[in-house]
Amino acid sequence: MIDSVLVNLTVRESRELLKNKKISSTELTKAFLARIKAVDEKVKAFVTLTPEVALEQAKTVDKFIQEGQELGTFSGIPGVIKDVFVTSGVRTTASSRILENFEPPYSATAVEKLLDQRMVLLGKANCDEFAMGASTENSAFFKTRNPWNLDYVPGGSSGGSAAAVAASEALFSIASDTGGSVRQPASFCGVVGLKPTYGRVSRYGLIAMASSLDTVGPITKNVFDSALVLQLIAGFDPNDSTTVSKEVPDYVSTLTKPIKNLKVGLPKEYFVKGIDPKVEKVVSSAIDKLAQLGAKIIEVSLPHTQYAVPTYYIIVPSEVSSNMARYDGIRFGQKRDKFGDEVKRRIMLGTYALSSGYYEAYYLKAAKVRTLIKKDFEEVFKKVDVLATPTTPTTAFKLGEKIEDPLTMYLSDVFTSPANLAGVPAISVPCGFVDHLPVGLQIIGPHFEEERILNLAYQYEQATDWSKVKPDIK
Ligand code: GLN
Repeated sequence: MIDSVLVNLTVRESRELLKNKKISSTELTKAFLARIKAVDEKVKAFVTLTPEVALEQAKTVDKFIQEGQELGTFSGIPGVIKDVFVTSGVRTTASSRILENFEPPYSATAVEKLLDQRMVLLGKANCDEFAMGASTENSAFFKTRNPWNLDYVPGGSSGGSAAAVAASEALFSIASDTGGSVRQPASFCGVVGLKPTYGRVSRYGLIAMASSLDTVGPITKNVFDSALVLQLIAGFDPNDSTTVSKEVPDYVSTLTKPIKNLKVGLPKEYFVKGIDPKVEKVVSSAIDKLAQLGAKIIEVSLPHTQYAVPTYYIIVPSEVSSNMARYDGIRFGQKRDKFGDEVKRRIMLGTYALSSGYYEAYYLKAAKVRTLIKKDFEEVFKKVDVLATPTTPTTAFKLGEKIEDPLTMYLSDVFTSPANLAGVPAISVPCGFVDHLPVGLQIIGPHFEEERILNLAYQYEQATDWSKVKPDIK
């Protein structure tokens, strides 16, 4: 099979071809390494490449196939891991100078599950430093570009992951979402991004940013592949006390469930001024499509939405200031000046918000508002099954456009951060274009109802062709 066909397969398709011995994992892996060589100089999605590891894993899987051994879902499938997940023996930087030469002695649970099945690790994806940002411009190393237009950002903080999948440099990625970092770059790059319920997927080995919000989710080419990844990584982990031992449902077989009469809420606070009218139009036609598929569209309200960004930007820096304290001079032998501007900004803001005399006014108040935001979702899910919203108020913006103005950058998170504050699951699925840049439809569900949002996203995707359109990058 020719390389350009191989790199455009999905996880599901390549798995079938591998099982039926139509292709080998080595052939597939080589096609991806060639693709990376051809386009990554432009896209710059990878911080570290691991071709030797990849080819070694592919060879082992090919041997298994020859011997007729049972394969795991991800055996021999090439993927990329966001560089905030520790990978045993493979440099892990969090796109920060402070961890520039760090080689972890173990792998994160989500990664370990994939490696156990012998996924093919192509490398580590660029991101904002310690996942702080919305454009990947905060990486200490270089900027990743949007495969749809190289003058634009891929979103962030998982910009490398989303760009790699969109540019056919990897079949899937594992990324982290604290305030939108899986969904927003997925939306900007025209791929699928899923943020599971807080506690559904282990964060053991995910370098902590804001521990009460961090989640682990897949970035994939389509919803089916998203369900496949979640199926493997979801579940209780004794190494992460925030995971729950709730049974993991079958996310794949429920994708085809009919969605007739599913109640879809449109929160009116998500369709207000500030949203680009062209984005709103695209999202509105996606919602019309849901109605055509038999969903019942109901207007609802999440009254505390406007407080989400300010609340998020008190809680996150507070937790950041505590989590970053571990990279001190005693253990790391480095000065704090190895941190970039955004990390330093959050350490200072957080230290201030937690300091004596200010704690009640800032952190405690934010914690209370967070509860109100969570209650908004609990109330609304008594009336509707899921919510549909734009993932972001605009499409991708130009490189350099917002980096000097942190407050504007923070507003990129208006529609994604509420789900993190409430702990509920949400998915972004491609739903059209504005001026040749992708737009994402966000579907949010109640706690532990990933099944439901995947189901609706899948039905929508089946009825449209947006996930199949590819950027023209050579
Ligand atoms: N853009 C958000 C921030 O800067 C989200 C980051 C994330 O989800 N990791 O905090």
